[in-house]
Amino acid sequence: AAAKAPGDPLVLPPNTSSDHFRNFINKAREITGPENVFVVEREDQLVDGNYMEPNKTHDMHHLFDRSYFASSATVAPRNVPEVQAMMRLCNEFDIPVWPFSIGRNTGYGGAAPRVPGSIGLNLGKNMNRVLEVNTDGAYALVEPGVTYYDMHQYLEKNNLREKVWLDVPDLGGGSIIGNAVERGVGYSPYGDHWMMHCGLEVVLPNGELIRTGMGAMPDRTAGHRDGLRPDEQPGNRAWQLFNYGFGPYNDGIFTQSSLGIVVKMGIWLMPNPGGYQAYMITFPRDEDLHQVIEIIRPLRVQMVLQNVPTLRSLSMDAAVHHPKSYYTDSDAALTDAQLDKIAKDLDLGRWNFYGALYGPEPIRNVLWSVIKESFSKIPGAKFYFPEDRPEENSILRTRAQTLQGIPTYDELRWIDWLPNGAHLFFSPISKITGDDAVLQYQITRKRCEEAGLEAICDFVVGMREMHHIVCIVFNREDSESKRRALWLIRTLIDDCAKYGWGEYRTHLAVMDQIANTYNFNDNAQMKLNEQIKNSLDPKGILAPGKNGIWPRSYHKDSWVL
Ligand code: ADP
Repeated sequence: AAAKAPGDPLVLPPNTSSDHFRNFINKAREITGPENVFVVEREDQLVDGNYMEPNKTHDMHHLFDRSYFASSATVAPRNVPEVQAMMRLCNEFDIPVWPFSIGRNTGYGGAAPRVPGSIGLNLGKNMNRVLEVNTDGAYALVEPGVTYYDMHQYLEKNNLREKVWLDVPDLGGGSIIGNAVERGVGYSPYGDHWMMHCGLEVVLPNGELIRTGMGAMPDRTAGHRDGLRPDEQPGNRAWQLFNYGFGPYNDGIFTQSSLGIVVKMGIWLMPNPGGYQAYMITFPRDEDLHQVIEIIRPLRVQMVLQNVPTLRSLSMDAAVHHPKSYYTDSDAALTDAQLDKIAKDLDLGRWNFYGALYGPEPIRNVLWSVIKESFSKIPGAKFYFPEDRPEENSILRTRAQTLQGIPTYDELRWIDWLPNGAHLFFSPISKITGDDAVLQYQITRKRCEEAGLEAICDFVVGMREMHHIVCIVFNREDSESKRRALWLIRTLIDDCAKYGWGEYRTHLAVMDQIANTYNFNDNAQMKLNEQIKNSLDPKGILAPGKNGIWPRSYHKDSWVL
């Protein structure tokens, strides 16, 4: 390769000369101010960081070379017109751009773009205001940089938790917008984050600004007036109250999507339920899985289980307590005998179920009696409240925070299962049945054992289905460990596709493979997606390749991984 001149990026965007790139960067500096443009010039600027200090340039949990999924530069707009100007500039220069809000997206690629050398559009750095919290309507309106932790602090500082609760995922550092648009989940009754969003403001690939749902209707009674910038107009008073507005409902095309940049989003908050009790139920035998899931289904569908509960494998809870080296010297996955011993030592089950009761005491008591009676059918089931588990790093006490919308960072610990711990998530969807759960678990364990990696997994139970979340922990400084992790996820995707189990979300490296499993009727859905993509983004500059959708301007066969 030619020697690089100062100012050249480590990774140029595709088909872009060094001069062209420099001209682009100069214009970007004029738009956002030079302090908001950072060109990655050297390998040593690709610092992985950690969850608390994430990088904005590449995938911290790199599965390939650190510089493969890396951006050429990051640009942080200060407001909506600058996002629009950046989209116009990228179109003019034919340079791909990858938006992110915070860039944590841990296990799915972090801030990294799918196409090496894309511009990382860092929305969270400067656009991070809580625009409104409305306690009567129980909703908030936020910008991309608002994290769960920020929102929690906002509610605390303004004494609003007495009125409304937030739903949070396992870790509190991600953005409310980034998580919802990726269709992430939390664990309270409001756990389906996309279901609970209401109203978007979106910059389209050509720089146009739209509001969805009721937001499309100007509202003079709310203060909408001529002369204000569109993005500064107060929203319609029902924008965060009614999702659909009039005509086709477009919000869905902006999730897991390359069709727009979400710059404002409404999210419903849960009214403070007036009482709360978290609990854990442990089940002693690996074989209890089938019966536990069969008991969960009717309770969840009827909403006796009010929240998104989780049934966690012992290995997940063991990994939160200690690294693998604490339990064994062996490189192999833990055996059943080892797992039984660990369960005994930690006083946990082979499966551990975490849920919560919401409402005043009489309501909680009724629900608890039904739940207790139902699970008591399993021999050896044990029931705990947080005060029954005073031990250090008690997972129940952490979950007791999460399930009432208080963000924590405790679940980070399982990433340290291996040295230089990094991870990928494998997350297929299935029916809530004992047969599905047992078969998925067997397949997962078999493949994990073949790869010499641990099956750290849990079942996250939604309204009518389960997300089976498998955390594939690998050593990111060990090329053999990376190779095995990639083999494992690729093999599991194919194995599960045979049973009609598809993933709900995935890492950059396997987006193409998974997109290809959703291929009903000769890939008809992909053809529709491509048609929409090519029509809204004719030059293919916004997040090309995201979720397997390649614009016409890319030769797909040479990009698919
Ligand atoms: P987190 O907020 O959890 O750190 P990210 O900011 O990394 O998550 O976002 C995860 C993914 O979601 C990004 O890679 C991008 O594809 C998409 N995304 C995030 N924010 C936006 C946004 N404001 N508009 C459109 N897509 C977004």
